[in-house]
Amino acid sequence: MNHEVIHFINSKSKRVAIIGCGQLARMMALAGMPMGISFSFLAEPQDDPAPVKDLGYILKADHQEYNAQELYLLLGKPDVITIDKENVSVRLLKQLNQFCKVYPSPQAIEICQNRKLEKTLLNKLGLETAKWQPADNVEAIAHAGMDIGWPLVIKSCQTTSQGKSQWLINNSKAIYELTHELKPQHSYIAEQLVAFDRELSLISGRDIYGNIKHYDIAENFHPAGVLLSSIAPADHLQPQLIEQAQQAAEAILKKIDYVGILAIEFFQIGDALLINELIPRVHNSGHWTQIACQNSQFTNHVRTIIGLPIGNTSATAPASMVNLLGVPVNQEILQDESLQLHWYNKEMQENQKVGHINLSHPNAHSLTAKTQQLIADLYQPQDNQLKAS
Ligand code: AMP
Repeated sequence: MNHEVIHFINSKSKRVAIIGCGQLARMMALAGMPMGISFSFLAEPQDDPAPVKDLGYILKADHQEYNAQELYLLLGKPDVITIDKENVSVRLLKQLNQFCKVYPSPQAIEICQNRKLEKTLLNKLGLETAKWQPADNVEAIAHAGMDIGWPLVIKSCQTTSQGKSQWLINNSKAIYELTHELKPQHSYIAEQLVAFDRELSLISGRDIYGNIKHYDIAENFHPAGVLLSSIAPADHLQPQLIEQAQQAAEAILKKIDYVGILAIEFFQIGDALLINELIPRVHNSGHWTQIACQNSQFTNHVRTIIGLPIGNTSATAPASMVNLLGVPVNQEILQDESLQLHWYNKEMQENQKVGHINLSHPNAHSLTAKTQQLIADLYQPQDNQLKAS
């Protein structure tokens, strides 16, 4: 292990290429630069690369117009390639892997991209998910309704950046609403609708030497279906559930020989945890690690993929994160010196993630109160003014 590390320190600067150019790419680059790493980014023609402007070379290209070797050369012969979004061609990653390392591996990304492969892996490992069945057409959904019971959530197995990929079907009569929605070339699963108490996520990392570390488990709030805030550690989470979640993560990471940061989303129902989804990259619910941990999820992703051992993941204090979903931050809010602003340089659009704010406080109750106040100040500023007047 020490040989690799010494080699890293003595060698010329490492180069990392990121497929994608959004805020996650931005924050990985910002975390890697102090370690002397240089970055390049592959932006698709429709992408706005503003978040990574000035952080490295941006190749704006339709990857299908180049072969893998040309892309590898154009990206500056990187030592490692990684991703900032799940929706990346696995075929492309496998081809690029002939020229340099790709972490997480294309095989691991392929499993996490496809809900059927992902849930099959989880269940094979003995890890619990909501009851599910493959259901590629309305007849199969009707069968699933009989086997699992209604309501069902129908989910596409293909990650798509555009269009709807999930439907809630309450009963057998409602299935036919889906007739025109399901694409014959796509596959789907039918999943039991879970009455969960809350949503949690665990961010874990594994390095090339097999070391695994976990961050505190976060509780996530999606009031309008999109992550608004996360708080870690999740309040009153029983130690046996923390252990169960960590053991699940370790089983998954080892099974797929994963390198990098992996996020696991859970549903908590009483004393039980069900895994909802695996996300093979740094994740929005781990942004709080930027304020609370010596090594944020971004630092540890970069460390692990370039061959350094995973760094300390323990938090110095409870922390939270509030997403800025199409809202500006005014000077008044930023008067609070304990807030940590991350702004992505994106165009302001309705519901667009344009940044986030991290908070930390030694007292978990005070942190929750501060987080709720910040959400109110950001999202209902007029209401608050009315109350104050
Ligand atoms: P997903 O794309 O699977 O992460 O789902 C997005 C959100 O939909 C989750 O964060 C949950 O709030 C909700 N959801 C997904 N699957 C289910 C389910 N089986 N039962 C209840 N809610 C779900």
